[in-house]
Amino acid sequence: MSISQAIEKVEARYAHQPEFVQAVKEVALTIAPLYDAHPEYQKMKIFERLVEPDRIISFRINWENDKGEVQVNRGWRVQFSNALGPYKGGVRFHPTVNQSVLKFLGFEQIFKNALTGLPMGGGKGGSDFDPKGKTDSEIRRFCYAFMRELHQYVSKDIDVPAGDIGVGSREVSYMFAMYKNLTHEYGGVLTGKGVGFGGSLMRTEATGYGAVYFLANMLGAQSDSFKGKKVLLSGAGNVSLHAAEKVCMLGGIPIAVSDSKGTLYDENGLNQDKIDWLKKQKAESKPLTDYIAVYGGEWFAGKKPWHLKGDVAIPSATQNEVNIEDAKMMVENGVKYIAEGANMPLDADAVDYVREHRVHYAPGKAANAGGVAVSALEMSQNSVRQYKTFEQIDERLKTIMKNIHDSAAEASDKYNQTDNNYIDYMAGANIVGFKRVADALIAYGILN
Ligand code: NDP
Repeated sequence: MSISQAIEKVEARYAHQPEFVQAVKEVALTIAPLYDAHPEYQKMKIFERLVEPDRIISFRINWENDKGEVQVNRGWRVQFSNALGPYKGGVRFHPTVNQSVLKFLGFEQIFKNALTGLPMGGGKGGSDFDPKGKTDSEIRRFCYAFMRELHQYVSKDIDVPAGDIGVGSREVSYMFAMYKNLTHEYGGVLTGKGVGFGGSLMRTEATGYGAVYFLANMLGAQSDSFKGKKVLLSGAGNVSLHAAEKVCMLGGIPIAVSDSKGTLYDENGLNQDKIDWLKKQKAESKPLTDYIAVYGGEWFAGKKPWHLKGDVAIPSATQNEVNIEDAKMMVENGVKYIAEGANMPLDADAVDYVREHRVHYAPGKAANAGGVAVSALEMSQNSVRQYKTFEQIDERLKTIMKNIHDSAAEASDKYNQTDNNYIDYMAGANIVGFKRVADALIAYGILN
């Protein structure tokens, strides 16, 4: 079966899972030159095998709110592929979570993890639980109940979850405590743990910092740098604020962040003090609008940052947040570089548009791989029971991001996707990630 036939099959079978189909098509359309060069992939039906998860575990979560009322949520773990290592990927708590979203995230995660060069398979999990407006004791009860179910299917050598939207260090700690309580095992079953009890230094910063390191390599490939560049970021969460922090360190000027309510614009640029203030504000679930009274700036209610002028964009909120209209605005407003801090924040039309307009564009699976890379370092530190310094992890992160950049650029070149120094990072990253997994599957025969 050819790649195009395989896409048709996925489209027909999973028409009700649009995010998943979108993610599959993006990979499929860019790996065709690799597939043509490797007839054994077609013979062994590698692509058809990889679009079906090894398994999806679906469960019910009963928990009690503060009023003693019974609440029922749905939970899932998608164990997509363990060809390269234990299933690895975050857990998301958000009302939009469903099987389509988790399958797209799990599918992307396979190739992202492969790109890091570290021994991890791909998976993702989550629940339609909405943490917004919940008290700390409600969050705690929910996390305990979630792990009471999930613990049967995960372990440090089988499947290692972590955080994602709605799941930060507090939630990871609650889930880790429940796992430990039920299994009596103190190990590396979750990453993103507190630094005092098995977590790695720099895990919190890693995704945002890594995305900016990736961008620094993209800029370098065009003999350019962050110096004086105006940077637009969406989101005001873990990824966005740490990316903004690293942008400042490298001489760029973050001028906008956003959340689900609107965009905060500061023409003077964010600095470390302002970013620390924003981190505290978000941690306390307080509104971004309070910023104006303290530091000035402007608030655009219900708007995304893309109507503002900037040189670099780092969309870091959620999937499909950038549509074709947003992409057009970005190009008009002078954006020359985009690195996805979030997973699949540009929809398919937006991706086509920015690539057609020669905006240097890095997909999330390459640009935001720093988070999972440091998670892998957390796993290895847990195994050897020795911990590295912040500086040591930072050096590893820089090297890993450079390697991902360079290998994607090299594959873009090798498979004739680079045109006049415009590097096709999307094709390059998909080719490198896919090839690593495909070669392992070929070696295994017909077992996954
Ligand atoms: P957080 O929960 O810390 O922050 C998410 C931010 O995005 C919040 O500011 C939130 O606003 C905003 N947001 C969420 N949904 C929307 C929406 N529909 N419209 C506008 N804004 C929205 O999440 P993270 O920073 O951890 O994750 C952000 C993205 O990065 C996700 O796609 C995630 O999968 C990806 N990612 C995260 C990694 C990590 O290590 N954390 C690793 C790799 C990828 P509000 O507070 O108003 O909801």
